[in-house]
Amino acid sequence: MTSAATAEPEGGIDGAGRSESQGEPYDVVVVGAGPAGSMTAGELARRGVRVLLVDRAEFPRPKVCGCCLNPRALATLERTGLGGLASRLGAVDLTAMELATAGRRASIERPLGVALSRDALDAALIEAAASVGVEFLPGTTASLRPGLPDTPRVVRLQRGDRAWDVRGRFVVSATGLTDGLLPVENRATPATGAKLGAGAIAPVAPSGYEPGRIYMACGDGGYVGLVVLEDGRLDLAAALDPDAVRDAGGIGRLAASILATASLPPVPGVAGLSWKGTPLLTRRPARLVERGVFRVGDSAGYVEPFTGEGMAWAVAGGEALAAILADAVAGLETRPDRRWDLAYRRRIARRQLTCRAVSRVLRSPWMTRGLVRALGLGPSLARPFLAIMHKAT
Ligand SMILES: Cc1cc2nc3c(=O)[nH]c(=O)nc-3n(C[C@H](O)[C@H](O)[C@H](O)COP(=O)(O)OP(=O)(O)OC[C@H]3O[C@@H](n4cnc5c(N)ncnc54)[C@H](O)[C@@H]3O)c2cc1C
Repeated sequence: MTSAATAEPEGGIDGAGRSESQGEPYDVVVVGAGPAGSMTAGELARRGVRVLLVDRAEFPRPKVCGCCLNPRALATLERTGLGGLASRLGAVDLTAMELATAGRRASIERPLGVALSRDALDAALIEAAASVGVEFLPGTTASLRPGLPDTPRVVRLQRGDRAWDVRGRFVVSATGLTDGLLPVENRATPATGAKLGAGAIAPVAPSGYEPGRIYMACGDGGYVGLVVLEDGRLDLAAALDPDAVRDAGGIGRLAASILATASLPPVPGVAGLSWKGTPLLTRRPARLVERGVFRVGDSAGYVEPFTGEGMAWAVAGGEALAAILADAVAGLETRPDRRWDLAYRRRIARRQLTCRAVSRVLRSPWMTRGLVRALGLGPSLARPFLAIMHKAT
């Protein structure tokens, strides 16, 4: 994937690693080009704001994720002019969820959004942002220069052994769970008992896994979600208890044992797939706006992914933050920090509380078994559960 324009200077750094700040400040520098960063950058550019988007990865890149865009995420894409994006990429309509635990299964038939690989989705969101004027720099790690004033912020960029500085009137941290733009002492700390995330992709979905269905296996050490992607691969994403991972001898082994005890169809070689882990999942930073940096997406706080809506929060957050920062750039908003705090609480934090409650239920094996049994008794019993999980507004 190519960048729309490059903000990289011709020069580089001197032997001591110093460089001069380059050119005019950007209105906004957005660090992290996952769904939160691309949405923020694209929505800002659509409003005429000069934006630089930076990511340390080269795209397309894989990402640990259940790859399910729920109706809330699709509604945000629609509102922001990206309604056709998922279907253009061949996203698979999701029409059912199968919940499995301790040999019991219950299925819930209902439209649940779409399944789409993160390599395809994230690259397409970046392209959409670039098409409205966002300058994009892949393969570039950003960090904050310490000891400098908050306005304009100076962001150090590093690609390979070259480093240079850019300035932004506003800086957005959309760096995901690593919260890696800010110095260590300002980063979000994980909640006690938080699970770790893990994911792998099997090259071909084995028999027993149908496209259009989400399979969720719940066991003592956590849960594993499986979904067939648009190209026939099987995505596996898990939230696991770190102690259980250690006791099982690794992520793959624990995932294999959860699938086996839940009685989902076997995934050949599941323990040996190339599993990737994430930092501990449930976390919230002390402040949403820190040292003049606005957090959005997972960087602003995250809860366990059972309800599959981190991407919905990321894009809705990006849409809302862009409107606020565009007003601030135009001189129409003097306290963007306060407005973002309020908007975040209203649009995202409340919803995360509900998801946290769902995750607590699913933490307890006997509660999960009770839920599966209840769902098995009749489809009407599934309605309140699904209403919580996939509320469209
Ligand atoms: C196991 C699991 C399953 C999940 N399942 C689902 C699901 O089915 N549906 C759903 O909606 N959500 C799901 N989620 C949540 C979803 O993956 C996240 O909420 C979503 O990716 C958040 O987007 P983001 O843009 O905030 O961060 P990310 O997508 O993590 O993007 C952050 C970007 O920042 C870049 N970056 C980080 N630090 C720097 C730096 N210093 N300089 C430059 N770049 C940097 C990274 O390279 C990365 O590209 C799941 C999460 C997990 C862990």
